[in-house]
Amino acid sequence: MKTPVVNCPTCNAQVNWTAENRWKPFCSERCKLIDLGQWAAEKYRVPAEEQEPESEETPPLAQ
Ligand SMILES: [Zn+2]
Repeated sequence: MKTPVVNCPTCNAQVNWTAENRWKPFCSERCKLIDLGQWAAEKYRVPAEEQEPESEETPPLAQ
């Protein structure tokens, strides 16, 4: 059975798609963490630009 080969999404290196490769589709743990890090950065960057405190929902001072 021929071993499938994929390209690492991070560095584009050829990766053998084997059972021993625990980082697939990445070539290494490093590339996997880099990809996850970029994904997290993209995710957190959006709310980070909104620097206003959550004050809009403050109810008026009614007694
Ligand atoms: Zn890689």
